[in-house]
Amino acid sequence: MNKALANMPATIQIDGSQGEGGGQILRTALALSMITGQAFELINIRAGRKKSGLMRQHLVCVQASQHISQAYVEGAELHSQRLYFAPQHVQSGKYQFQIGSAGSTTLVLQTLLPALLLQDGASELTITGGTHNPLAPTADFIEHCFLPTLTKIGIETEFKLNKAGFFPIGAGEIQIKIQPWQHRNKLNLLDRGALQGTEAFAAVLNLSEEAQIAQRELATLNKRLKLDTQQLFHLNGISQGNTVYVKVEHQQHIQLFTALGEMRKSAEQIANRLAEQVKQYIASQAAVDEYLTDQLLLPLALGQGGEFTAQCISEHTHTQASMIEKFIDCEIEFIELNKNLFQVTVKVKEAHS
Ligand code: AMP
Repeated sequence: MNKALANMPATIQIDGSQGEGGGQILRTALALSMITGQAFELINIRAGRKKSGLMRQHLVCVQASQHISQAYVEGAELHSQRLYFAPQHVQSGKYQFQIGSAGSTTLVLQTLLPALLLQDGASELTITGGTHNPLAPTADFIEHCFLPTLTKIGIETEFKLNKAGFFPIGAGEIQIKIQPWQHRNKLNLLDRGALQGTEAFAAVLNLSEEAQIAQRELATLNKRLKLDTQQLFHLNGISQGNTVYVKVEHQQHIQLFTALGEMRKSAEQIANRLAEQVKQYIASQAAVDEYLTDQLLLPLALGQGGEFTAQCISEHTHTQASMIEKFIDCEIEFIELNKNLFQVTVKVKEAHS
C-alpha cells in the first residue's frame, strides 16, 4: 500500500437509520468530515422518514459541501440511500448556491458554517430557496437567536434576509458574511437571568390584507402573553406565506419561537400554539429551547466547549451528540435537573484557542 494511503484514517461508517434518522445526520456528517478531513460512508440515508434517501435539499447540502472542500463523492443523486464523501481541503471565499425549490436555505447554511468559520479567510454565502420552512430554523430564528448566541463564543457573522421564500415556490435568498473564528470563548449559559421583555413580530407575503392574518396573530399573542411590544414587519419575495415569531429576552439570552401560517388553520390557532410554547419556556427556567440546543452542540464542540441549561433534550439532540463524538474527541453530557430543565455540558479534550 502506498504511504499516503496507509496514513489515511479509516472511513467513518454511519448508519443513517440510527436515532432520530433525519437529515441532521447527513448535515452533521458533512460538516464534521470537512472539518476533520475524515471521509465517511453513510448508509440507510433518512431511513426514519416517509420518503427516504437524499431529497433535493439534502443533495444541495452534499453538492455545496463538495464544492467548498473539493471532495470526492459517490452516491450524490436524488433518492440515493448511500453516500461516500472524502473531502480535500476547505476553501474560504464567496459562494452562491441555488436549491431550485423551496428546500431550506438555513439548513444548507447549518452544513457549511462550521467548516468556513475555521478557515483563515472570510467567506460570503448567498443561498436561494426556502427561508421559512416547517421543520427547519426560519431565517428570523437564525438572525435573531442562533447567530447572536454564537457571538457569545466569539463567532462573528453578518446575516441578511434579502428575500423571503415560502413553500412551494421558495425563491427566497439569505446572505451571510462569515469571519474567521479568532477568539474561541467557553459558553456559560446556565442561568438565563431575569426576564427583560417579550416581543412579537408578524408578517404576510403576497396574501390578502383583508384577512388581517398578521394583525390577528399579534392580537392573540398579546392576549395570551401580555407582550411588551408587537410589530408587523415587511418581507420581500414572490412566494406567498405568513410567519410570526416571539422574542423572549432574558438578561443573559434571547430565545426566539417561530410559527408559520398553514392552510386550513386560523391565525388564532397558529398564534395560540406559539403562545403555548412561549409560556412553557418562560415557566421552565431553562436558557435554551429544544431546537437551539441541538444547534449549539457542534459550535461548542469546535470551540472551548461550555455549559447551558436546556428546556428539553430531544431525540434529535441525542443523535447530534453521538455524531459529534464519532468525529471529535469530546464529551457531551445531559443531566436532568428538574422537570423541563436539563444541564448540557460539552467538554473538549483539547481546548482550541
Ligand atoms: P432534520 O429534521 O433532521 O432535517 O433537522 C431539522 C433542524 O431544524 C434541526 O437543527 C432543528 O433544531 C431545526 N428546527 C426544526 N424546527 C425548528 C424551529 N421551529 N425553530 C428552530 N429550529 C428548528
